[in-house]
Amino acid sequence: MKKMKYILVTGGVVSGLGKGVTASSIGLLLKACGLRVTSIKIDPYLNSDAGTMSPFEHGEVFVLDDGGEVDLDLGNYERFLDVKLTRDNNITTGKIYQYVLDKERRGDYLGKTVQVVPHITDAIQEWIERVAMIPVDGKEGPADVCVIELGGTIGDIESMPFIEALGQFSYRVGAGNFCLIHVSLVPVLNVVGEQKTKPTQHSVRGLRGLGLTPNILACRSTMALDDNVKEKLSQFCHVPAEDVITLYDVPNIWHVPLLLRDQKAHEAIFKVLNLPGIAKEPSLKEWTTRTEICDGLHERVRIAIVGKYTGLPDSYLSVLKALLHASVACRKKLVVDWVPASDLEDMTEIENLDAYKAAWKLLKSADGVLVPGGFGDRGVQGKILAAKYARENRIPFFGICLGMQVAVIEFARSVLGLTDANSTEFDPSTRNPCVIFMPEGSKTQMGGTMRLGSRRTYFEVMDCKSVKLYGNRRYIDERHRHRYEVNPDIVGRLENAGLSFTGKDESGQRMEVIEVPDHPYYIGVQFHPEFKSRPGKPSALFLGLVAAACGQLDALLQGFESREKVNCEIGNGPSNKKVYQNGYATKPANIIRDAIYSYCNGLSCTVI
Ligand code: GLN
Repeated sequence: MKKMKYILVTGGVVSGLGKGVTASSIGLLLKACGLRVTSIKIDPYLNSDAGTMSPFEHGEVFVLDDGGEVDLDLGNYERFLDVKLTRDNNITTGKIYQYVLDKERRGDYLGKTVQVVPHITDAIQEWIERVAMIPVDGKEGPADVCVIELGGTIGDIESMPFIEALGQFSYRVGAGNFCLIHVSLVPVLNVVGEQKTKPTQHSVRGLRGLGLTPNILACRSTMALDDNVKEKLSQFCHVPAEDVITLYDVPNIWHVPLLLRDQKAHEAIFKVLNLPGIAKEPSLKEWTTRTEICDGLHERVRIAIVGKYTGLPDSYLSVLKALLHASVACRKKLVVDWVPASDLEDMTEIENLDAYKAAWKLLKSADGVLVPGGFGDRGVQGKILAAKYARENRIPFFGICLGMQVAVIEFARSVLGLTDANSTEFDPSTRNPCVIFMPEGSKTQMGGTMRLGSRRTYFEVMDCKSVKLYGNRRYIDERHRHRYEVNPDIVGRLENAGLSFTGKDESGQRMEVIEVPDHPYYIGVQFHPEFKSRPGKPSALFLGLVAAACGQLDALLQGFESREKVNCEIGNGPSNKKVYQNGYATKPANIIRDAIYSYCNGLSCTVI
């Protein structure tokens, strides 16, 4: 059996250096060289998973097909590598301790003193070896390379057992099978404009003191490192100067794999991993084209995100990425206006008139409105007002999870006249519960007890926008994360009043997709399609929202109807090719059709 190769990515000096993006980009670069890549993210906190952590503090909770609630970095891996990871690809201290303590209770260590070394450290190594073998790219058999990202910064108390385990692990898998890339910071002091190497020297010294030696340094800095700075780092950190890579500031993260390629990071990695035969030019043509197109966009599309955590964009990272993928497909520069939901409410008008006015101004100047998922009642009334505004003023609207529930509440209140209609999440004693707690949920255990992960939605109405955007498929699989659902008892009345329930689960009792048919674009979904959007394959309903927001929805839907025609046009290809070689879109409708084509067929596409 071939041996798995491991790449460990650690971080030094400060947090927030973009270690996750660097690790994903390394994975993408290797994939572009023809290798199959998987990844593991280690989070040295005690929570079992990210499900119970606040998006305020930690950014969004990313949801996997298997229902794993994980760190948002796994989202970056899935998007960059176009893979589907499992919950075990995210290791936390909590998970490892739980595993060891369960074994202890079962009596697996009978007679022994259970200790961090060797029991925890062994468990970490076994976990890595086991999970690295799980195929994540839809092909059979394990990947060639596993990229492991160690969260936190070298020197953190929390990560010590992991560092110890990884030191042992590098020895165990042996030279030629383990490559350590240390991501560090080279600050530039404004006064003298000098690139400072000392912080990196210190963090590498810390790493070596813990038994790990870096093979490659990836230095974040504002500009490319001077040769003498690389020499200095090489001398003090014992890394060849050609293996000191600069990740200088770039306009968007899609540039990072290109930066790594330009500095021949793949060759440095292949040298360490003893893979000389593979070191050919990475094929990143499609990626490069997309990145250049993205850089060159100037016509704007404004989408208002009406949410609770508007102060920290990472709280809605996948939603942002899905909007970006869709905007690039529509050849528009995405502008997101963050509207704090509670600022739209009447109370804010009384307490803080300026904030109220500012929020409404943003909402009213948007080309499209998106209400994302959320928990708890803060800002719900503001979200309801945003949904009402979009419905009544025929502004393209997309509601996700709580966003859909809010749209249902709004419809029941405004159209059915049930002024106290509500979700039992916000008003347990409402006389008109139109969103209710799901019978299979748990009210006492919070962690991992929601309806989570990939579930099937069947389309019941075939002549509607959502189904067309999904390529006229009879069913789709999307990821879920919710405790509440639309009350099936009220569905009939809502339907009679003009709200269409176009998608349901297999029982026909759980509402998955709503649509207002005579509105330009008013769609809500109980699932989270943002988690499966990819740079080259924008998620269908995000594409619909952005296309509607910039007046391209009809072309998109028509393009879809003539998909067969498009198919052969693309097969012949020359006209399309010309469009892309020029680097900008001369035929937007064509391009969007291509986007749909690639989306429906699960192909990668040179367009977006
Ligand atoms: N709070 C709602 C529920 O639990 C919505 C959840 C969400 O938006 N992810 O059903």
